[in-house]
Amino acid sequence: MNIPSILKQQRAYFKTQQTKNVSFRIDILKKLKQEIVSREQDIYDAFKKDFNKSAFEGFISEYGLVISELDLAIKNLKSWSKPKRVTPSILTFPSTDYIYKEPYGTVLVIAPWNYPFLLAIDPMLMAIAAGNTVVVKPSELTVHTSKLITEIIKSVFETEHATSIEGGIPIATELLEQKWDYIFFTGSVPVGKIVAKAAAKHLTPVTLELGGKSPCIVDDTINLKLAAKRIAWGKLLNGGQTCIAPDYVIAESSIKDKLIEALKAEIINAYGDNPRESGDFPRIINERNTKRLIEMLDDVNIVYGGEYHIESCYIAPTLVDHPSLDSKLMQDEIFGPILPILTYTNETDIDNIISNYDKPLSLYVFSKDKAFIDAILKNYSFGGGAINDPLIHFGNHRLPFGGVGASGIGAYHGKHGFDTFSHHKSISKRGTWFDPPVRYAPYKGKLGLLKKMFKWFG
Ligand code: NAD
Repeated sequence: MNIPSILKQQRAYFKTQQTKNVSFRIDILKKLKQEIVSREQDIYDAFKKDFNKSAFEGFISEYGLVISELDLAIKNLKSWSKPKRVTPSILTFPSTDYIYKEPYGTVLVIAPWNYPFLLAIDPMLMAIAAGNTVVVKPSELTVHTSKLITEIIKSVFETEHATSIEGGIPIATELLEQKWDYIFFTGSVPVGKIVAKAAAKHLTPVTLELGGKSPCIVDDTINLKLAAKRIAWGKLLNGGQTCIAPDYVIAESSIKDKLIEALKAEIINAYGDNPRESGDFPRIINERNTKRLIEMLDDVNIVYGGEYHIESCYIAPTLVDHPSLDSKLMQDEIFGPILPILTYTNETDIDNIISNYDKPLSLYVFSKDKAFIDAILKNYSFGGGAINDPLIHFGNHRLPFGGVGASGIGAYHGKHGFDTFSHHKSISKRGTWFDPPVRYAPYKGKLGLLKKMFKWFG
């Protein structure tokens, strides 16, 4: 795989202006959709082989979302890509002013393994919709899905338009050494820093979709059975390997024991007494991550679960009662089916926990107390979140999805994705019928009039 040569081909192709033709873009997105629809079962089979992910989860968390994004882009591309007229200002009048949505050029998309199809194809399709050429690097850890991604892209696109390059760190490193017009990275915070550094060398704009420890606060006003059902679902979907999963719970101290009991009941409802035998409970992606998670269980009070089997990458849904903030479990993003439950008695306790970490990707509050919810939303900076349910904000394409601070830079989904991959080029077309003399030298005696004009026309 000659990376510089692929990049050269894509640059030459971009220069032909073909990708700026909106009808061409719509046609190719339709072809992509057709190909994906025809490979639906293959996609679920790949998920199953990669980490025992069920077709149901594969549909709700990957395939279905990709198809929705494709439908949305196909339907709206004409209006999204039209220049948007804006009102002139006192400084530009008389003028007609427009914002043009212009593709950046050649885009690199680097994807993680945890939603291997969605997080490679969604950014790619929006980059294509915006008129770019794209190189996708899927994760090396989900070999079956990544191979399928390569096949799908190859059957729809010429390499000069879009291609998938599989490989691990050496390939990613070589890709990052090249000069791109945009880099879209989804993955961990440490690798996000490597990507940001590589991009800075060429002043390449980036979107970084990263992770972190996302808190879930539960107060004493909420229906605990419903809260437990939703928290267990949000935590255990994808085997807990979700960037926006509730990383840990902070429960009001008087309801903590009841919440733990309710969580146990919901886990059993979902996966039975032995989740290892459930076809619906995914595995950890590899042995390395399984061992990492097992180490997190050292010296903590496990109140449910805790069983594991390294060779089959199984970790049971596990509840941990009040681990210390110094424990391994509370140091890093967990990214597995282990849920610590901490407690609070007042808002200072909550603050002492949340302020211990970087700005999270998500935050969840379970409460009926509007003042409490408002205070939490106002006090903390985080990428996005939801009230009384985890993860669901991810599913509305009208909400931009992304982090803030250490949890990421930039956002996408729906039209926000199209905008992410478009440079917004501002053009002011000046009229020639009127040319007020006030701006021209000599300036003597004109400052007062200028100030009045600024005030009148703001
Ligand atoms: P990762 O950072 O290890 O890998 C992501 C990608 O980067 C992979 O394609 C990998 O090959 C590449 N990579 C790994 N090391 C590299 C290096 N040294 N140089 C260049 N490239 C390198 O992440 P992961 O383990 O695949 O995914 C889990 C992480 O991703 C979690 O932290 C999770 O929170 C985060 N995540 C974030 C989102 C989001 O939308 N914000 C979504 C999914 C996952």
